[in-house]
Amino acid sequence: MYITRKKTRQIKVGKVGIGGDAPISVQSMTTTDTRDVKATVEQIQQLEQAGCEVIRVAVPDMEAAAALPKIKAQMTVPLIADIHFDHRLALKAAEVVDCVRINPGNIGAWWKTAEVIKAVNERGIPLRVGVNGGSLERPLLEKYGYPTAEALAESALNAVHALEDVGFTNMKVSLKASDVHLAVDAYWLFSLQSDYPLHLGITEAGTAQTGAVKSAIGIGWLLSHGIGDTLRVSLAADPVEEVKVGFEILKSLELRHRGINVIACPTCGRVEIDVVRMANELEKRLGHIKTPLNVSVLGCVVNGIGEGKEADIGIAGGEGVGILFKKGKLLRKVPAEELMETLIREVELLAKEKAAEEAGEEKLASAATPGNGGTVQSLLGKPSDSQTSITRDLPILPNKK
Ligand code: SF4
Repeated sequence: MYITRKKTRQIKVGKVGIGGDAPISVQSMTTTDTRDVKATVEQIQQLEQAGCEVIRVAVPDMEAAAALPKIKAQMTVPLIADIHFDHRLALKAAEVVDCVRINPGNIGAWWKTAEVIKAVNERGIPLRVGVNGGSLERPLLEKYGYPTAEALAESALNAVHALEDVGFTNMKVSLKASDVHLAVDAYWLFSLQSDYPLHLGITEAGTAQTGAVKSAIGIGWLLSHGIGDTLRVSLAADPVEEVKVGFEILKSLELRHRGINVIACPTCGRVEIDVVRMANELEKRLGHIKTPLNVSVLGCVVNGIGEGKEADIGIAGGEGVGILFKKGKLLRKVPAEELMETLIREVELLAKEKAAEEAGEEKLASAATPGNGGTVQSLLGKPSDSQTSITRDLPILPNKK
């Protein structure tokens, strides 16, 4: 599969670029009461630890808006305020956050939006125009009868054009629906008519498993057709799971490379080790590693090394003794009871080596300034692919129908 990413405009949410050549970022949203600063900051820190790159908090009232400075002071990734209904909350939030999300379907009269634009403009922060199938404007519902993809796209385009009419372009757009077909079609229709960066998501996707599948299909379809610049997987679960699923979607499409990718065989009658337990334990214990590594856990040696060829490192079970292999080559035999700990040690070592290698390359790259003996490209010989492997600028879109 060859992915041609649509080139959109780029905006900045804090330090994170969204759109253009920026890597597709993973977002999440806290589930705590924003007024409870301690609980919210704790969850934000868990999300940051999991690799979440942008975090949104709900701002349902003035007390929540007043808590934002304290929350912002204790986090490192950009903060987005999620506002519905009351534009005064957006005005308050805009004093401190890195982006404000408003829903044109429920913010009310145009003058209220105009005040929000003035506030975000003063701080140079962007807006997310978040259209939602559940809260479309009445005229569009009357025109289309119910929330269709066309209605969602028209709602988003209307909002974008209204903002452009007053000279505002610092925005990204989302068109969410809980129905996968509806969301995909809406994003696709909008993308055909606009080059603003898109925040992807299937809203209210469901529980950890159902929501992950729906999101992988919906978000995955869009990404695989070059659409989307940032994403949030909405799950009725711990938001850390949203981050994990978000990265898995990107890793599966080879759009991002981050952390450990566990390749585990499905097991069969030949299995010699507890693959399921080991694969789960690996994901948990190696979750702190950011260096991209494929780690393989295979139940037997019959197809072991062959099936694990794509892995950077891995193990295959045997009767009382397993094997440790690296890039498809046997390293050594390891007693079965030591396989897990040996693999963890080796992965940590490999991650350190790889991180040191990358740091060396970056140092080399920063030394390669013009007039200093060459270009980054000529010194490294290849572009860095540690974040986005496939970013091209041809605005080719699929013929979906
Ligand atoms: S690696 Fe071995 S145990 Fe796992 S699926 Fe293949 S043959 Fe079965």
